Amino acid sequence: VEEVVEEEEEKETPAAAAAPVAAKHEKDYYPYILIGAGTASFAAMEAIREKDPSAAILIIGNEDIGPYMRPPLSKEMWFNKEDETTKNLAFKDWQGKERNIVLHGKETIQSIDQEALNKIESAESGVKLLTGATVEDLNITEQSLTLNNGKVLKYGKVLLATGGIPKTLPVLKGAGEGKVTTFRSVEDFKKLHSLVKSADKKIVIVGGGFLGSELAVAVSHYGKEKNVKVTQIFPEDGNMGLVFPSYLSKWTTSQVEQEGVSVKPNSRIASTKAVGEQVELTLESGEKVLADHVVVAVGIEANVELAKKAGLELDEHRGGVLVNAELQARRNVYCAGDMTSFHDVTLGRRRVEHYDNAILGGRVAGQNMASDNLHKPYKHQSMFWSDLGPHIGYEAVGILDSKLSTVSIWTKKPTVSAADAAAATTEEGTKEESAAADKKDEGKRERATATPLPADVVKVEDKEKYNKGLVLYLKDKKIVGLLMWNNFGKVDDARKILGQVYDTEKVEALVKPFGIHEE
Ligand code: FAD
Ligand code: NAD
Ligand code: NAD
Repeated sequence: VEEVVEEEEEKETPAAAAAPVAAKHEKDYYPYILIGAGTASFAAMEAIREKDPSAAILIIGNEDIGPYMRPPLSKEMWFNKEDETTKNLAFKDWQGKERNIVLHGKETIQSIDQEALNKIESAESGVKLLTGATVEDLNITEQSLTLNNGKVLKYGKVLLATGGIPKTLPVLKGAGEGKVTTFRSVEDFKKLHSLVKSADKKIVIVGGGFLGSELAVAVSHYGKEKNVKVTQIFPEDGNMGLVFPSYLSKWTTSQVEQEGVSVKPNSRIASTKAVGEQVELTLESGEKVLADHVVVAVGIEANVELAKKAGLELDEHRGGVLVNAELQARRNVYCAGDMTSFHDVTLGRRRVEHYDNAILGGRVAGQNMASDNLHKPYKHQSMFWSDLGPHIGYEAVGILDSKLSTVSIWTKKPTVSAADAAAATTEEGTKEESAAADKKDEGKRERATATPLPADVVKVEDKEKYNKGLVLYLKDKKIVGLLMWNNFGKVDDARKILGQVYDTEKVEALVKPFGIHEE
């Protein structure tokens, strides 16, 4: 995770002034309380301690462990065959280094239970983590919150970082008890991992987005030797169909299939019933699919339960709590991570469900919480990345929405004629296509193609075809997103381009830093 570029700062006033006068030094008062022991809270905690080294911070989370990285749960954790490593929640990263999913930094985090919390007479400098506790109510006027056991705590500043709740589908209700699960936490990972250890299991994954696609590849890979069969069902034309342009989504699907996954695109589940120990899914086409277990990965809802009760303003359109560019919802109340609809000064209002956004947003919220007159806007553009099998890895910044017009640039020439491609593009796309196609004789980057390309011209046996590339996402002629395909370490270059007007004449200079034609 890259460092946040520090803004020029005014002389700061420590935020301890935020405490209600009566509460300071009182029992059950904490200058900083962070709700949700996830990624965003972890980053906020570190930022607060950097600015205010003697800060007393209480993190409250309702899982059994402290902040950890979720990304390896659908990737690296499945590519390791040593049980002991997995049991310790460790994994090997892409460089082969052993890591642990539990987040560690400079700060010592002291885990406490409710009993220990009750014994604290006065909050002292340091970070305390209360696990297995849910914050049930937040009283913004009183600057207090209530835990699920009724205990009331007072705060100076509070962060809401409650993440997201996986959605499910009503049509799956007919399956037997425990046969359909969502996948978000380390507990969910442990259950699925132990299930897939037994031979011949049939796993169905519903959903073709980030989680469904990563998990399908990962579980299929892990279960190969045990004859575990993975079927993936979703309504789009291909994997990542809401994110990638159509031709790339189809290519991705072909690669997911190569990993042994039976992919059923354009499919919806019509009904579900328990058949013995198994679940029978009937698709709208009439096809029946049997499963020992079904994992639903059909997106999340921002977890705004607490915020709603507290009367915070919600984003009806995107979900999440509405905050300004400084990640502030109300005086002394901040939000970060998945549950936050923030004003992005470059791209407009957004809610982002990715790890780096939780880290970077958490940091900015923490910095603003720790100083009364910093007022730092969250301007640094977060990135995200994913791996899907051995041939696909990508990094991205900005808005990636397959409904937007896109321009793609690839190292190798796709085996499709310009006429075919142009025939399938949108009006705007066609213009971009012809502009880019004009340059097709230059160097090895033989031409840029506007998308979408028609499905039938994508010849999947050509593994080199979508080897290394760049996809620009355009909105109102502006570049609002960049997808760097098998092209790592270019995120900062992408950030520089984000928000710029797309000009077909300047495309060559624009993509130069990405080294597309250097292969
Ligand atoms: P979370 O990490 O969800 O933390 C919120 C915490 O708050 C949870 O522990 C929750 O139980 C707790 N909580 C909620 N309400 C309360 C309450 N009232 N009281 C107490 N505690 C509460 N992103 C990427 O960019 N790249 C990836 O490769 C990637 N892979 C992923 C893989 C998986 C399997 C999953 C599930 C997600 C993945 N993500 C990935 C998304 C990323 O993990 C999230 O964007 C990130 O975790 C968001 O952080 P957060 O702090 O907002 O929320
Ligand atoms: P890290 O130390 O920040 O995080 C460790 C783990 O957390 C990662 O292995 C991943 O599981 C997860 N993670 C962290 N940030 C993430 C994000 N933004 N999106 C998804 N998951 C995230 O990160 P790291 O170990 O330095 O590795 C992450 C970087 O390495 C990414 O930029 C990634 O694209 C890159 N990478 C490069 C290659 C390559 O071949 N050059 C291959 C895979 C990954
Ligand atoms: P998502 O929003 O990425 O995908 C939602 C998917 O749900 C759609 O692609 C669609 O296929 C499916 N869907 C919707 N309605 C459906 C229906 N009726 N029947 C079948 N399928 C249906 O969400 P996700 O994939 O569930 O991921 C969960 C969360 O985890 C998200 O916040 C995601 O960003 C995050 N995540 C991120 C990464 C990454 O950045 N690499 C990896 C894993 C998870």
